[in-house]
Amino acid sequence: MKHNISINKVTESKVKSIDFNNIPLGTTFTDHMFICDYNNGVWENPRIEPMGMIPTHPAAMALHYGQAIFEGMKATVDADGNPMLFRADRNAARLNTSADRMGMPHFPEDLFVEGLKQLVDLERNWIPPTDGSALYLRPFMYADEAFIGMRAATHYKFIIMASPAGPFFSKRIKLWAEKHYIRAVNGGTGEAKAAGNYAAAIRPTELAKAKGFDQVLWLDAIEHKYIQEVGTMNIFFKIDGKFITPKRDGSILDGITRMSVIDVLRDKGYDVTERAITIDEIQEAAKNNSLEEAFGTGTAVGIAYIQDIGVGEEIIHVSNESPVGLEVNNTLNDIKTGRVEDKFGWML
Ligand code: PMP
Repeated sequence: MKHNISINKVTESKVKSIDFNNIPLGTTFTDHMFICDYNNGVWENPRIEPMGMIPTHPAAMALHYGQAIFEGMKATVDADGNPMLFRADRNAARLNTSADRMGMPHFPEDLFVEGLKQLVDLERNWIPPTDGSALYLRPFMYADEAFIGMRAATHYKFIIMASPAGPFFSKRIKLWAEKHYIRAVNGGTGEAKAAGNYAAAIRPTELAKAKGFDQVLWLDAIEHKYIQEVGTMNIFFKIDGKFITPKRDGSILDGITRMSVIDVLRDKGYDVTERAITIDEIQEAAKNNSLEEAFGTGTAVGIAYIQDIGVGEEIIHVSNESPVGLEVNNTLNDIKTGRVEDKFGWML
């Protein structure tokens, strides 16, 4: 479908004031944003405007009842400076999965991708050229109807904003296996990228940090032993030469890095199984020296190696012997910058 996106450009770009070698995290925004309004059952007036404040009624339903969902993705450049998007169709589809769970309308997937393309094209000078850097893109949807009362809203906004991000060097992280606080339950909202999931994770994360850990390892709600994910990443383990990752059961996010890492690992000849994994099993594997690797996966960092997992009084130490995750991360970065052939057909 052809979408008519109107564009209102700034008179002068702020990009010249940015030091791409020293980009502050999450506080710099590009010149423009993409906006679309949902009224009376239709998405209308898709437009690109100068980045700015959005007047919001204090009764906007997102502020009270939490109908707010988002996505996270990155634009990179190839060797010739052409902007590229990684698996944008997957983010478009995931936004609508989140919308379903939260009683929100679907956003047309072709307009999602077209809005991204036009915004990124307009902001191409904002894509940091240095290796490992990218233009972070944040599509999101929220209920902006002014109404007090508990029902699905009838007015929404869909917005895409963009923020340059420097290379993310992740040190090996320490996880706290959380047995009191829960991120997601069966039948809950864990598979939705809903704002409220993140709000509920803030306090447990602060408590884990106060104990000296970097992130929370989320466990299941009933037995507190099945591993779900870590912080805002999915998780992989390598035991006896084979990779395992928790299977999707409705309570973990369907990570786009996760699905890509599975494909790249299999392509490199590794065995990858998606199944239920207990913390006891990981503890056991560490004790008998068969736990060879453990890492988190997500758009922000790519792959983050895990050093320790605190389980009550005990610490599981992960060996640092096997760098397969790093190899996969390099392959993904090579695909995202056009250095190797995109044999999976992921780049746009
Ligand atoms: N789990 C959660 C809870 C997340 O917020 C994210 C980041 N979107 C991920 C996993 C990783 O997903 P992706 O690879 O799509 O970034």
